[in-house]
Amino acid sequence: MLRIDCPFCGPRDEIEFAYGGDAERVRPPMEETDESIWNNYVFLRNNPKGAHQEYWLHQHGCRAWLKVTRDMISHEITDVSFADGKDEA
Ligand SMILES: [Zn+2]
Repeated sequence: MLRIDCPFCGPRDEIEFAYGGDAERVRPPMEETDESIWNNYVFLRNNPKGAHQEYWLHQHGCRAWLKVTRDMISHEITDVSFADGKDEA
């Protein structure tokens, strides 16, 4: 089980959080009309090794969206911040 150190609530078990997806994906501009680019964005996922940024919602806590940097092999969490980049919830 992961322990995520919420910047507002402190360290909490993974069960309090909901995974929110890859935080490194870049949405194509709305003007983009190439079907393959949208298909890749919506349906394809990377499975990287090493440090990776993810969104997590602290749904049974402060309800803040967090950006978590987690190693995809060891699951070590090296950074947690609010997803909006602010210092407070
Ligand atoms: Zn929290």
